[in-house]
Formats: sequence, C-alpha cells, structure tokens
Amino acid sequence: MWRGSILDNERPNLTEDDTELDEETLFIVSQTFKALGDPTRIRILNLLAERECAVSEISDKLHLSQSTVSHQLRFLKNLRLVKFRRAGTSIYYSPDDQHVMALLHQAIHHACHD
Ligand SMILES: [Zn+2]
Repeated sequence: MWRGSILDNERPNLTEDDTELDEETLFIVSQTFKALGDPTRIRILNLLAERECAVSEISDKLHLSQSTVSHQLRFLKNLRLVKFRRAGTSIYYSPDDQHVMALLHQAIHHACHD
C-alpha cells in the first residue's frame, strides 16, 4: 500500500507499464477527497489542526450535536485521518495524517487567494 507522497519525494505505486496509478492507490485517493468533501468534516479537521479536542468541545465550538461529531469522527478514524487518546474518562481526538492535513491547508488557502 502506498504510504508515501509527493511531499516526501516518493513515487506512488504504478501499474506495470509505469504510467497509471494502480487500483488501490486510486481507491485511497478517492476516499481521501471524499473525506475532505464534506463541510462538517472540514470544520472538524480544521479545529483539530489547532488543538486536540474531546467530542464535547468539538460539539460546543462548532455548534454540532455530539452524535454528529461522533459519527464524523468514526468516519475519519476509519480512514486513519484522526486518532484518539484516553486521559482518565476523557477521549481526545487529533489529526493522524499530515499529508491529508497539508491537503486541507492547501485547499483552504486556495479558497482564500485571489
Ligand atoms: Zn489556488
């Protein structure tokens, strides 16, 4: 599975003739853009880029229900885009992939430039 990136100066897995991305790579790239293709997930990731948060903090700060936040965090966790850590009875979420956070950062800047 491709774990490198252009940022790392690594090459993606290519098919035998070396011109096309293989199916697994295409699937993961598609899933990545799907993950970033939802305004609520964008807001959550953007908040987590600043600091790790519990579900209740995300819910309060973004005015979302806790069930919405939990649902989206599960989605992001399944794609290994967020991770969590337990501290006593609390669970704190943070980003788990710097490539995807860099993509989000670039997309936000893209939205803001002239
Ligand atoms: Zn741009």
